[in-house]
Amino acid sequence: MGVIKFKIHTEFDRMRTGLVRTKHGNFRTPVFIPVATLASVRGLDNRDLKEMGAEVLLANTYHLHLRPGDEVIRELGGLHRFMGVDLPIVTDSGGFQAFSLGFGMEHGVGKIANNIFLEGLKDDFESKDFSEKWAFVNDRGVKFRNHITGEMIELTPKKSMQIQSNLRSDIIFAFDECTSPLSDREYTEIALERTHRWADECLESYDREQAIFGIVQGGEYRDLRERSARFMAERDFDGYGIGGSLGKSKKDMLNILEWVIPILPEEKPRHLLGIGAVEDLFNCIERGVDMFDCVAPTRWARRGHLYISPTEGGNPKNKFRIHIKNAKFRLDNSPIDRNCDCFVCQEYSRAYLRHLYVSNEITYFRLASYHNVYFLLKLIEEIRSSIENGTFYNLKKKWLGY
Ligand SMILES: [Zn+2]
Repeated sequence: MGVIKFKIHTEFDRMRTGLVRTKHGNFRTPVFIPVATLASVRGLDNRDLKEMGAEVLLANTYHLHLRPGDEVIRELGGLHRFMGVDLPIVTDSGGFQAFSLGFGMEHGVGKIANNIFLEGLKDDFESKDFSEKWAFVNDRGVKFRNHITGEMIELTPKKSMQIQSNLRSDIIFAFDECTSPLSDREYTEIALERTHRWADECLESYDREQAIFGIVQGGEYRDLRERSARFMAERDFDGYGIGGSLGKSKKDMLNILEWVIPILPEEKPRHLLGIGAVEDLFNCIERGVDMFDCVAPTRWARRGHLYISPTEGGNPKNKFRIHIKNAKFRLDNSPIDRNCDCFVCQEYSRAYLRHLYVSNEITYFRLASYHNVYFLLKLIEEIRSSIENGTFYNLKKKWLGY
């Protein structure tokens, strides 16, 4: 242990700010981590990301294993070298894909039943027929159908550790089985026991040059979540992920955090996997979450949804977004958000972005992605400051109205 160091700066109720030190630089917490699914944050390059203040990136183990192949990346010197990036990199375990390819895809649900949060894969899969089963889970690991070639491939705890070692990321996740909000208690418990055995297998075989986070599972069931949190807390992980099905509503998700977080060791960072809506950031940070990753800002950008702050009319109901295609923006000479100091908002109007969007211009994707990622990075920065100077609740009220 000790490849990364986490230092807490300020504690305020259950919230805290801190700093994570890695070999590839430091990042402050709470942090929003842009997702580079295929070793690229869609639509943006490293200069964009550095300029907008991204401090850490997350890449997907499953995707990179299939393409270009983790051994290719190892051969080329690891992910940092391959991507030409000198920021800390986190990789996920590949386990979430067992869920999104298998049960999740079959039932068309995401991490929260009412909110589709299928990360990374949905775009690839929109054209496919899901009547066929895409993933099989047993105690050894998960068998997937490779979505590119159609071949069956197997992912086990040991293999996930090997792939992440080849990728040479700074922070890795233990291999887990991610259940769906539609999984019953009986199945959730079986998956939980499996995840626990896998966690121990990962601790035996992971690359000691990397920091490893364990993942708390247990679905929406309080006793299972608490059992999982205790199991993980007893092991010497460098940090903890909270993963899997986060219940059937946002309220369920917040309950899960209230059960789990008090059990996890105070001095280790906590990462809520795959969540990143504006309202969630406030509510989850308030309950002690330090790290978030989500494809939402770039995915929403590509689909025409751009973030706006409360003074531009952003609120929990419209999810702090406008849809740029709306005809009312045709003659709108104002920027996306007058409070945003990103270069897109300094230089371009809503009318121009709307024109690029409806014309399907490639430039639109970069500008929209830039604004959306920048927006979340600045919001997190503002939240961090508010924790440090004791004004978090004022800021939250200003944004969420409660
Ligand atoms: Zn902007």
